[in-house]
Amino acid sequence: MGPATGANPLVVLGAGYAGLTVAREVARLGGRELPVVLVDRHPVHVLRTELYEVGRLAAPGADLGRWTVPLAEVFGDAAVTVREATVEGIDLAAREVRTSTGTVPFRFLAIALGSVAAYYGVPGAPEFTHQVYRLSGAVRLARAIREIEAASPALPGERAPRLVVVGGGSTGTELAAEIATTDWARLTGVAARTPEVVLVVGSLPFLAGFPPSLVEHARDLLRKAGVAVISGTNVVRVEDRRVHLEDGTVLACDVVVWCAGLEAPPVVAGLPVPRSRAGRLRVEPTLELPGQPGVFALGDSAEVRDPTSGLLAPATAQAALAEARVVAGNVIARARDGPLRTFTYREKGVAVALGLGQGAASVRHLTIWGRPAALLKRAVEREYARATARGEAPSVL
Ligand SMILES: Cc1cc2nc3c(=O)[nH]c(=O)nc-3n(C[C@H](O)[C@H](O)[C@H](O)COP(=O)(O)OP(=O)(O)OC[C@H]3O[C@@H](n4cnc5c(N)ncnc54)[C@H](O)[C@@H]3O)c2cc1C
Repeated sequence: MGPATGANPLVVLGAGYAGLTVAREVARLGGRELPVVLVDRHPVHVLRTELYEVGRLAAPGADLGRWTVPLAEVFGDAAVTVREATVEGIDLAAREVRTSTGTVPFRFLAIALGSVAAYYGVPGAPEFTHQVYRLSGAVRLARAIREIEAASPALPGERAPRLVVVGGGSTGTELAAEIATTDWARLTGVAARTPEVVLVVGSLPFLAGFPPSLVEHARDLLRKAGVAVISGTNVVRVEDRRVHLEDGTVLACDVVVWCAGLEAPPVVAGLPVPRSRAGRLRVEPTLELPGQPGVFALGDSAEVRDPTSGLLAPATAQAALAEARVVAGNVIARARDGPLRTFTYREKGVAVALGLGQGAASVRHLTIWGRPAALLKRAVEREYARATARGEAPSVL
Protein backbone atom coordinates (compact mmCIF):
# COMPACT_ATOMS: atom_id res chain seq x y z
CA MET A 1 0.00 0.00 0.00
CA GLY A 2 3.00 2.27 -0.27
CA PRO A 3 2.16 5.65 -1.77
CA ALA A 4 3.49 6.45 -5.22
CA THR A 5 6.15 9.15 -5.25
CA GLY A 6 4.45 12.53 -5.16
CA ALA A 7 1.08 10.95 -4.37
CA ASN A 8 -1.59 13.17 -2.86
CA PRO A 9 -2.33 12.07 0.70
CA LEU A 10 -6.10 11.97 0.10
CA VAL A 11 -8.02 12.28 -3.15
CA VAL A 12 -11.83 12.57 -2.94
CA LEU A 13 -13.81 11.91 -6.12
CA GLY A 14 -17.11 13.81 -6.27
CA ALA A 15 -18.17 16.93 -4.36
CA GLY A 16 -21.72 15.79 -3.64
CA TYR A 17 -23.18 15.15 -0.19
CA ALA A 18 -20.70 12.33 0.48
CA GLY A 19 -17.48 13.71 -1.03
CA LEU A 20 -17.87 17.27 0.20
CA THR A 21 -18.43 16.02 3.75
CA VAL A 22 -15.38 13.71 3.67
CA ALA A 23 -13.18 16.58 2.44
CA ARG A 24 -14.52 19.04 5.02
CA GLU A 25 -14.26 16.59 7.94
CA VAL A 26 -10.74 15.40 7.06
CA ALA A 27 -9.61 19.02 6.73
CA ARG A 28 -11.20 19.78 10.12
CA LEU A 29 -9.82 16.73 11.94
CA GLY A 30 -6.63 15.94 10.04
CA GLY A 31 -5.48 19.49 9.41
CA ARG A 32 -2.21 19.98 7.57
CA GLU A 33 -1.24 16.37 8.07
CA LEU A 34 -3.66 15.26 5.33
CA PRO A 35 -4.14 17.80 2.54
CA VAL A 36 -7.13 16.88 0.38
CA VAL A 37 -7.61 17.05 -3.38
CA LEU A 38 -11.34 17.16 -4.17
CA VAL A 39 -12.20 16.39 -7.81
CA ASP A 40 -15.53 17.29 -9.39
CA ARG A 41 -16.59 18.18 -12.91
CA HIS A 42 -18.44 21.23 -11.58
CA PRO A 43 -17.12 24.09 -9.42
CA VAL A 44 -20.30 23.88 -7.33
CA HIS A 45 -21.95 21.47 -4.90
CA VAL A 46 -25.45 20.71 -6.22
CA LEU A 47 -28.29 20.53 -3.70
CA ARG A 48 -29.67 17.48 -5.43
CA THR A 49 -32.38 16.76 -2.87
CA GLU A 50 -34.14 19.96 -3.99
CA LEU A 51 -34.12 19.30 -7.73
CA TYR A 52 -37.80 18.28 -7.75
CA GLU A 53 -38.60 22.01 -7.44
CA VAL A 54 -39.26 22.44 -11.17
CA GLY A 55 -41.93 25.08 -10.51
CA ARG A 56 -39.33 27.35 -8.87
CA LEU A 57 -36.75 26.41 -11.52
CA ALA A 58 -39.21 27.37 -14.28
CA ALA A 59 -39.85 30.85 -12.84
CA PRO A 60 -38.62 33.62 -15.16
CA GLY A 61 -35.19 34.77 -13.97
CA ALA A 62 -34.86 31.86 -11.48
CA ASP A 63 -31.47 32.15 -9.75
CA LEU A 64 -29.77 28.75 -10.08
CA GLY A 65 -27.56 29.72 -7.15
CA ARG A 66 -30.44 28.58 -4.92
CA TRP A 67 -29.68 24.96 -5.88
CA THR A 68 -25.88 25.16 -5.68
CA VAL A 69 -23.10 26.06 -3.26
CA PRO A 70 -19.79 27.26 -4.82
CA LEU A 71 -16.96 24.96 -3.73
CA ALA A 72 -14.59 27.94 -3.51
CA GLU A 73 -16.89 29.34 -0.81
CA VAL A 74 -16.87 26.08 1.19
CA PHE A 75 -13.13 25.47 0.95
CA GLY A 76 -11.53 28.86 1.31
CA ASP A 77 -8.49 27.48 3.13
CA ALA A 78 -5.49 25.62 1.78
CA ALA A 79 -6.32 22.25 3.39
CA VAL A 80 -8.62 21.30 0.46
CA THR A 81 -7.64 21.86 -3.17
CA VAL A 82 -10.61 21.76 -5.51
CA ARG A 83 -9.79 20.36 -8.94
CA GLU A 84 -12.43 20.95 -11.61
CA ALA A 85 -12.11 17.89 -13.84
CA THR A 86 -14.04 14.87 -15.07
CA VAL A 87 -12.95 11.54 -13.64
CA GLU A 88 -12.32 9.22 -16.59
CA GLY A 89 -10.75 6.18 -14.93
CA ILE A 90 -9.55 4.81 -11.61
CA ASP A 91 -6.47 2.57 -11.54
CA LEU A 92 -6.48 0.84 -8.17
CA ALA A 93 -3.25 -1.09 -8.83
CA ALA A 94 -1.24 2.00 -9.87
CA ARG A 95 -3.09 4.09 -7.24
CA GLU A 96 -3.94 6.90 -9.59
CA VAL A 97 -7.00 8.56 -11.07
CA ARG A 98 -7.23 9.57 -14.72
CA THR A 99 -9.03 12.87 -15.21
CA SER A 100 -9.77 15.25 -18.09
CA THR A 101 -6.98 17.50 -16.78
CA GLY A 102 -4.34 14.86 -16.08
CA THR A 103 -3.45 12.01 -13.76
CA VAL A 104 -3.87 12.33 -9.99
CA PRO A 105 -1.89 9.83 -7.88
CA PHE A 106 -3.25 9.06 -4.42
CA ARG A 107 -2.29 7.45 -1.15
CA PHE A 108 -5.87 7.30 0.17
CA LEU A 109 -8.96 7.53 -2.04
CA ALA A 110 -12.66 8.18 -1.40
CA ILE A 111 -14.96 7.31 -4.33
CA ALA A 112 -18.17 9.37 -4.07
CA LEU A 113 -19.29 9.89 -7.67
CA GLY A 114 -23.02 9.50 -6.98
CA SER A 115 -25.36 7.77 -9.42
CA VAL A 116 -26.99 8.13 -12.84
CA ALA A 117 -30.44 7.20 -14.17
CA ALA A 118 -30.96 3.47 -14.68
CA TYR A 119 -33.15 2.68 -17.70
CA TYR A 120 -33.23 -1.14 -17.29
CA GLY A 121 -33.00 -1.62 -21.05
CA VAL A 122 -36.41 0.01 -21.66
CA PRO A 123 -36.26 1.05 -25.35
CA GLY A 124 -36.63 4.79 -25.90
CA ALA A 125 -36.25 5.72 -22.22
CA PRO A 126 -32.78 7.33 -22.53
CA GLU A 127 -33.77 9.29 -25.67
CA PHE A 128 -37.33 10.38 -24.92
CA THR A 129 -37.45 11.08 -21.18
CA HIS A 130 -36.33 13.92 -18.96
CA GLN A 131 -34.75 13.44 -15.52
CA VAL A 132 -34.10 15.50 -12.40
CA TYR A 133 -31.04 13.64 -11.12
CA ARG A 134 -28.78 16.45 -12.34
CA LEU A 135 -29.27 20.22 -12.20
CA SER A 136 -28.94 20.53 -16.00
CA GLY A 137 -31.67 17.91 -16.45
CA ALA A 138 -34.00 19.59 -13.95
CA VAL A 139 -33.50 22.97 -15.67
CA ARG A 140 -34.23 21.44 -19.10
CA LEU A 141 -37.39 19.81 -17.75
CA ALA A 142 -38.57 23.03 -16.07
CA ARG A 143 -38.13 24.98 -19.31
CA ALA A 144 -39.87 22.28 -21.39
CA ILE A 145 -42.93 22.31 -19.10
CA ARG A 146 -43.03 26.11 -19.08
CA GLU A 147 -43.06 26.18 -22.90
CA ILE A 148 -45.79 23.54 -23.10
CA GLU A 149 -47.87 25.38 -20.51
CA ALA A 150 -47.36 28.72 -22.27
CA ALA A 151 -48.77 27.15 -25.46
CA SER A 152 -51.60 25.32 -23.67
CA PRO A 153 -54.37 27.93 -24.19
CA ALA A 154 -54.19 27.14 -27.93
CA LEU A 155 -54.74 23.38 -27.46
CA PRO A 156 -57.88 22.07 -29.20
CA GLY A 157 -61.06 21.81 -27.12
CA GLU A 158 -60.61 21.28 -23.42
CA ARG A 159 -57.36 19.34 -23.74
CA ALA A 160 -54.73 20.07 -21.09
CA PRO A 161 -51.03 19.19 -21.36
CA ARG A 162 -50.35 15.71 -20.03
CA LEU A 163 -47.14 14.84 -18.18
CA VAL A 164 -46.14 11.32 -17.27
CA VAL A 165 -43.75 10.72 -14.36
CA VAL A 166 -42.30 7.20 -14.22
CA GLY A 167 -41.30 5.87 -10.79
CA GLY A 168 -43.22 5.79 -7.51
CA GLY A 169 -40.30 6.43 -5.14
CA SER A 170 -39.83 9.74 -3.33
CA THR A 171 -38.31 11.53 -6.36
CA GLY A 172 -41.20 10.64 -8.70
CA THR A 173 -43.79 11.41 -6.03
CA GLU A 174 -42.33 14.80 -5.12
CA LEU A 175 -41.92 15.76 -8.75
CA ALA A 176 -45.46 14.73 -9.77
CA ALA A 177 -46.95 16.73 -6.87
CA GLU A 178 -44.78 19.75 -7.67
CA ILE A 179 -45.79 19.81 -11.36
CA ALA A 180 -49.48 19.31 -10.57
CA THR A 181 -49.63 22.10 -7.97
CA THR A 182 -47.46 24.76 -9.63
CA ASP A 183 -49.44 27.83 -10.69
CA TRP A 184 -48.45 27.69 -14.36
CA ALA A 185 -50.82 30.53 -15.32
CA ARG A 186 -49.01 32.91 -12.95
CA LEU A 187 -45.65 31.62 -14.09
CA THR A 188 -46.31 31.93 -17.82
CA GLY A 189 -48.49 35.05 -17.68
CA VAL A 190 -51.12 33.41 -19.92
CA ALA A 191 -54.28 31.42 -19.14
CA ALA A 192 -52.27 28.20 -18.98
CA ARG A 193 -54.31 25.05 -18.43
CA THR A 194 -53.62 22.95 -15.32
CA PRO A 195 -51.60 19.95 -16.53
CA GLU A 196 -52.85 16.42 -16.16
CA VAL A 197 -50.12 14.58 -14.24
CA VAL A 198 -49.91 10.78 -14.30
CA LEU A 199 -47.55 8.94 -11.94
CA VAL A 200 -46.69 5.45 -13.19
CA VAL A 201 -45.62 3.54 -10.12
CA GLY A 202 -44.79 0.24 -11.86
CA SER A 203 -44.66 -3.13 -10.17
CA LEU A 204 -42.92 -1.93 -6.99
CA PRO A 205 -45.19 -0.64 -4.20
CA PHE A 206 -45.78 3.13 -4.04
CA LEU A 207 -43.05 4.74 -1.83
CA ALA A 208 -41.54 1.30 -1.16
CA GLY A 209 -39.52 1.23 2.06
CA PHE A 210 -41.26 4.23 3.67
CA PRO A 211 -43.29 3.76 6.90
CA PRO A 212 -46.89 2.65 6.09
CA SER A 213 -48.52 5.62 7.88
CA LEU A 214 -46.40 8.08 5.85
CA VAL A 215 -47.34 6.24 2.64
CA GLU A 216 -51.05 6.54 3.47
CA HIS A 217 -50.86 10.31 4.03
CA ALA A 218 -48.70 10.76 0.95
CA ARG A 219 -51.22 8.86 -1.19
CA ASP A 220 -54.03 11.04 0.13
CA LEU A 221 -52.12 14.31 -0.44
CA LEU A 222 -51.07 13.22 -3.91
CA ARG A 223 -54.73 12.57 -4.80
CA LYS A 224 -55.65 16.03 -3.46
CA ALA A 225 -52.85 17.52 -5.58
CA GLY A 226 -54.67 16.06 -8.60
CA VAL A 227 -52.09 13.41 -9.55
CA ALA A 228 -53.47 10.24 -11.17
CA VAL A 229 -51.58 7.13 -10.06
CA ILE A 230 -51.21 3.98 -12.18
CA SER A 231 -49.89 1.03 -10.16
CA GLY A 232 -48.89 -2.53 -10.85
CA THR A 233 -47.74 -2.23 -14.46
CA ASN A 234 -44.27 -1.34 -15.72
CA VAL A 235 -43.26 0.88 -18.60
CA VAL A 236 -42.00 -1.34 -21.45
CA ARG A 237 -41.25 1.23 -24.17
CA VAL A 238 -41.08 4.99 -24.61
CA GLU A 239 -41.48 6.85 -27.89
CA ASP A 240 -41.65 10.52 -28.66
CA ARG A 241 -44.66 11.65 -26.55
CA ARG A 242 -45.90 8.12 -25.95
CA VAL A 243 -45.46 5.71 -23.05
CA HIS A 244 -46.26 2.00 -23.48
CA LEU A 245 -47.21 0.01 -20.39
CA GLU A 246 -46.87 -3.74 -19.85
CA ASP A 247 -50.67 -4.21 -19.83
CA GLY A 248 -50.98 -2.74 -23.34
CA THR A 249 -52.02 0.77 -22.25
CA VAL A 250 -50.50 3.56 -24.33
CA LEU A 251 -50.30 6.97 -22.67
CA ALA A 252 -50.10 9.86 -25.13
CA CYS A 253 -48.40 12.79 -23.42
CA ASP A 254 -46.36 15.96 -23.85
CA VAL A 255 -43.47 15.17 -21.51
CA VAL A 256 -42.14 12.03 -19.83
CA VAL A 257 -39.89 12.18 -16.77
CA TRP A 258 -37.85 9.14 -15.72
CA CYS A 259 -37.55 8.74 -11.94
CA ALA A 260 -37.56 4.95 -11.97
CA GLY A 261 -34.14 4.20 -10.59
CA LEU A 262 -30.45 4.82 -10.29
CA GLU A 263 -27.22 2.99 -10.91
CA ALA A 264 -23.52 3.69 -10.46
CA PRO A 265 -21.90 5.85 -13.16
CA PRO A 266 -19.84 3.89 -15.76
CA VAL A 267 -16.47 4.96 -14.31
CA VAL A 268 -17.50 3.30 -11.03
CA ALA A 269 -19.45 0.34 -12.43
CA GLY A 270 -16.45 -0.61 -14.63
CA LEU A 271 -14.04 -1.14 -11.73
CA PRO A 272 -12.73 -4.72 -11.37
CA VAL A 273 -13.98 -5.13 -7.79
CA PRO A 274 -17.13 -6.66 -6.23
CA ARG A 275 -20.25 -4.71 -7.28
CA SER A 276 -24.02 -4.92 -6.93
CA ARG A 277 -26.32 -5.41 -9.95
CA ALA A 278 -26.65 -1.63 -10.18
CA GLY A 279 -22.85 -1.36 -10.35
CA ARG A 280 -22.48 0.01 -6.81
CA LEU A 281 -19.22 -0.86 -5.09
CA ARG A 282 -19.53 -3.42 -2.31
CA VAL A 283 -17.65 -2.27 0.78
CA GLU A 284 -16.40 -3.69 4.06
CA PRO A 285 -18.02 -2.43 7.29
CA THR A 286 -15.15 0.12 7.42
CA LEU A 287 -16.40 1.39 4.00
CA GLU A 288 -13.16 0.27 2.32
CA LEU A 289 -13.20 -1.82 -0.84
CA PRO A 290 -12.39 -5.47 -0.06
CA GLY A 291 -8.63 -6.06 -0.32
CA GLN A 292 -7.97 -2.33 -0.94
CA PRO A 293 -6.96 -0.74 2.36
CA GLY A 294 -7.20 3.03 2.22
CA VAL A 295 -9.63 3.02 -0.75
CA PHE A 296 -13.15 3.93 0.39
CA ALA A 297 -16.49 4.08 -1.46
CA LEU A 298 -19.61 5.81 -0.16
CA GLY A 299 -22.86 7.56 -1.01
CA ASP A 300 -24.88 6.48 -4.05
CA SER A 301 -21.76 4.90 -5.62
CA ALA A 302 -21.49 2.29 -2.86
CA GLU A 303 -23.58 -0.62 -1.65
CA VAL A 304 -23.33 -0.30 2.12
CA ARG A 305 -24.71 -3.02 4.37
CA ASP A 306 -25.25 -2.32 8.05
CA PRO A 307 -23.31 -5.11 9.82
CA THR A 308 -25.75 -5.26 12.77
CA SER A 309 -29.10 -5.27 10.94
CA GLY A 310 -27.81 -6.81 7.69
CA LEU A 311 -29.92 -4.24 5.82
CA LEU A 312 -28.64 -2.04 3.00
CA ALA A 313 -28.26 1.66 3.79
CA PRO A 314 -30.56 3.62 1.44
CA ALA A 315 -29.17 5.68 -1.46
CA THR A 316 -29.98 9.00 0.23
CA ALA A 317 -28.16 12.18 1.14
CA GLN A 318 -28.81 11.38 4.78
CA ALA A 319 -26.97 8.04 4.51
CA ALA A 320 -24.21 9.63 2.39
CA LEU A 321 -23.50 12.21 5.12
CA ALA A 322 -23.38 9.54 7.84
CA GLU A 323 -21.05 7.37 5.76
CA ALA A 324 -18.82 10.38 5.03
CA ARG A 325 -18.22 11.03 8.71
CA VAL A 326 -17.05 7.43 9.19
CA VAL A 327 -14.85 7.55 6.08
CA ALA A 328 -13.22 10.80 7.26
CA GLY A 329 -12.40 9.23 10.63
CA ASN A 330 -11.10 6.06 8.99
CA VAL A 331 -8.83 7.91 6.54
CA ILE A 332 -7.24 9.68 9.49
CA ALA A 333 -7.01 6.37 11.39
CA ARG A 334 -5.22 4.78 8.40
CA ALA A 335 -2.79 7.71 8.23
CA ARG A 336 -2.02 7.37 11.95
CA ASP A 337 -2.05 3.54 12.04
CA GLY A 338 -5.00 3.69 14.42
CA PRO A 339 -8.06 1.41 14.67
CA LEU A 340 -10.83 1.82 12.07
CA ARG A 341 -14.54 2.26 12.91
CA THR A 342 -17.35 0.26 11.35
CA PHE A 343 -20.39 1.97 9.85
CA THR A 344 -23.86 1.44 11.29
CA TYR A 345 -26.87 3.25 9.86
CA ARG A 346 -29.46 5.03 12.03
CA GLU A 347 -32.19 6.83 10.12
CA LYS A 348 -33.06 10.19 11.65
CA GLY A 349 -36.31 10.54 9.73
CA VAL A 350 -37.77 10.73 6.24
CA ALA A 351 -39.88 13.40 4.56
CA VAL A 352 -41.64 13.78 1.22
CA ALA A 353 -42.78 17.13 -0.24
CA LEU A 354 -46.24 16.94 -1.82
CA GLY A 355 -46.80 20.38 -3.35
CA LEU A 356 -48.67 23.48 -2.10
CA GLY A 357 -46.68 23.57 1.13
CA GLN A 358 -47.87 20.06 2.05
CA GLY A 359 -45.82 17.00 2.91
CA ALA A 360 -45.59 13.77 4.87
CA ALA A 361 -42.78 12.88 7.25
CA SER A 362 -41.81 10.26 9.76
CA VAL A 363 -39.42 11.15 12.58
CA ARG A 364 -38.61 8.68 15.35
CA HIS A 365 -41.72 6.55 14.65
CA LEU A 366 -43.94 9.65 14.68
CA THR A 367 -45.77 10.51 11.46
CA ILE A 368 -46.60 14.11 10.67
CA TRP A 369 -48.28 15.41 7.55
CA GLY A 370 -49.61 18.53 5.89
CA ARG A 371 -47.94 21.86 6.49
CA PRO A 372 -45.75 20.89 9.50
CA ALA A 373 -44.16 18.07 7.49
CA ALA A 374 -43.40 20.37 4.55
CA LEU A 375 -41.96 23.02 6.89
CA LEU A 376 -39.76 20.44 8.61
CA LYS A 377 -38.38 19.21 5.28
CA ARG A 378 -37.74 22.76 4.09
CA ALA A 379 -36.01 23.68 7.38
CA VAL A 380 -33.68 20.66 7.17
CA GLU A 381 -32.80 21.39 3.52
CA ARG A 382 -32.15 25.09 4.13
CA GLU A 383 -30.07 24.45 7.26
CA TYR A 384 -27.96 21.99 5.24
CA ALA A 385 -27.44 24.60 2.49
CA ARG A 386 -26.66 27.39 4.97
CA ALA A 387 -24.13 25.41 7.02
CA THR A 388 -22.48 23.87 3.94
CA ALA A 389 -21.92 27.28 2.35
CA ARG A 390 -20.09 28.35 5.52
CA GLY A 391 -17.94 25.23 5.55
CA GLU A 392 -19.69 24.02 8.71
CA ALA A 393 -21.28 20.68 9.58
CA PRO A 394 -25.10 20.95 9.36
CA SER A 395 -26.64 20.57 12.81
CA VAL A 396 -29.70 18.61 11.69
CA LEU A 397 -28.41 15.77 9.50
C1 LIG B 1 -35.15 15.03 -6.70
C2 LIG B 1 -34.40 14.29 -5.62
C3 LIG B 1 -34.83 14.40 -4.30
C4 LIG B 1 -34.14 13.75 -3.27
N1 LIG B 1 -34.57 13.90 -1.98
C5 LIG B 1 -33.86 13.36 -0.98
C6 LIG B 1 -34.23 13.60 0.38
O1 LIG B 1 -35.25 14.24 0.66
N2 LIG B 1 -33.44 13.09 1.36
C7 LIG B 1 -32.31 12.37 1.10
O2 LIG B 1 -31.63 11.96 2.04
N3 LIG B 1 -31.94 12.10 -0.18
C8 LIG B 1 -32.68 12.57 -1.22
N4 LIG B 1 -32.29 12.34 -2.53
C9 LIG B 1 -31.14 11.45 -2.81
C10 LIG B 1 -29.82 12.20 -2.69
O3 LIG B 1 -29.84 13.35 -3.50
C11 LIG B 1 -28.65 11.30 -3.09
O4 LIG B 1 -28.72 10.10 -2.37
C12 LIG B 1 -27.34 12.01 -2.79
O5 LIG B 1 -27.19 13.10 -3.69
C13 LIG B 1 -26.15 11.06 -2.87
O6 LIG B 1 -24.99 11.78 -2.56
P1 LIG B 1 -23.61 11.43 -3.28
O7 LIG B 1 -22.60 12.33 -2.69
O8 LIG B 1 -23.37 9.97 -3.27
O9 LIG B 1 -23.86 11.82 -4.81
P2 LIG B 1 -24.15 13.25 -5.45
O10 LIG B 1 -24.72 14.17 -4.48
O11 LIG B 1 -24.93 12.98 -6.70
O12 LIG B 1 -22.69 13.77 -5.85
C14 LIG B 1 -21.90 13.15 -6.82
C15 LIG B 1 -20.89 14.16 -7.32
O13 LIG B 1 -20.00 13.52 -8.20
C16 LIG B 1 -19.75 14.35 -9.33
N5 LIG B 1 -19.40 13.47 -10.44
C17 LIG B 1 -20.10 12.41 -10.91
N6 LIG B 1 -19.43 11.82 -11.90
C18 LIG B 1 -18.27 12.53 -12.08
C19 LIG B 1 -17.16 12.37 -12.92
N7 LIG B 1 -17.05 11.37 -13.81
N8 LIG B 1 -16.16 13.27 -12.82
C20 LIG B 1 -16.21 14.28 -11.91
N9 LIG B 1 -17.24 14.46 -11.05
C21 LIG B 1 -18.26 13.58 -11.15
C22 LIG B 1 -21.06 15.09 -9.53
O14 LIG B 1 -20.85 16.31 -10.23
C23 LIG B 1 -21.50 15.32 -8.08
O15 LIG B 1 -21.03 16.54 -7.57
C24 LIG B 1 -32.99 12.97 -3.58
C25 LIG B 1 -32.56 12.86 -4.91
C26 LIG B 1 -33.25 13.51 -5.93
C27 LIG B 1 -32.77 13.39 -7.35
